[in-house]
Amino acid sequence: MIGVLRLGHRVERDKRITTHVFLTARAFGADFGVFTGDRDNNIIESLAETVRRWGGSFKVEYSESHVKTINEFKSKGFKIVHLTMYGLPVKAKIRELKSFKDILLIVGGAKVPREVYTLSDYNISVGSQPHSEVAALSIFLHEYYEGRELEISFPNARLVVEPQERGKKVLKRF
Ligand code: SAM
Repeated sequence: MIGVLRLGHRVERDKRITTHVFLTARAFGADFGVFTGDRDNNIIESLAETVRRWGGSFKVEYSESHVKTINEFKSKGFKIVHLTMYGLPVKAKIRELKSFKDILLIVGGAKVPREVYTLSDYNISVGSQPHSEVAALSIFLHEYYEGRELEISFPNARLVVEPQERGKKVLKRF
């Protein structure tokens, strides 16, 4: 199982980016999401609606405490992998990380609390330049799944895209 913990959501400023973190997580092979910061049911609803239409079983939950969530997943045997520009290069560590089936990936928001660096089993960078949580997550999952994430399909999908050279074709299953 791969989960994504998104830290420090702000209801006004981060609505789109937090949704994009979880849409990306779902599309590229993660199983669930958790966010801290402002409680925001729109995020949970928006992902639930995507799952209803496009399939899968991705679920998002709110957590009041990142420390509690990290410790909970640690005690379930998950490895905690924090994506940060200050960490060790993904290319250097991905072989080791691929040996773990259960991973909680952490991506930050505006400010990442200090203890996240020490509570995490791994601090991993996707390049050492500042960019975005969506980019970091995408590239990490691409390295982890070696490209297989691009072929994911969801068996219970109501809507399925039939790829076209031009235009849009969407099959409605039921
Ligand atoms: N100054 C912030 C910090 O404390 O790192 C950067 C905030 S950045 C907009 C939001 C998140 O994107 C970071 O917390 C991290 O999870 C991810 N991120 C940005 N650049 C990254 C990189 N080069 N490697 C890995 N993750 C990155």
